[in-house]
Amino acid sequence: MSDEFEKPVKRRFIAGAVCPRCSEMDKIVNYKLGDKNYRECVACGFKDEIRLQASPRELDTRVNQTADREVEETAVKILLPPNDKK
Ligand SMILES: [Zn+2]
Repeated sequence: MSDEFEKPVKRRFIAGAVCPRCSEMDKIVNYKLGDKNYRECVACGFKDEIRLQASPRELDTRVNQTADREVEETAVKILLPPNDKK
């Protein structure tokens, strides 16, 4: 039963990769855990999540947020009652 927690994780060395912490080359391994990809330095223990296709999504979100704001402002202006009550 505990085998589920000890699944062997495939680790692949990234050729030419330099560790941002210890600057060692060819010490970075790439492995997948669940749906996320990680890189880890076997020399100093540096670990980082690799986000694939993360940047384009963030850009899309920002664009959508801006568009939503513009739509909201336009809707508010239209819904504002005219100030002609006396
Ligand atoms: Zn390192």
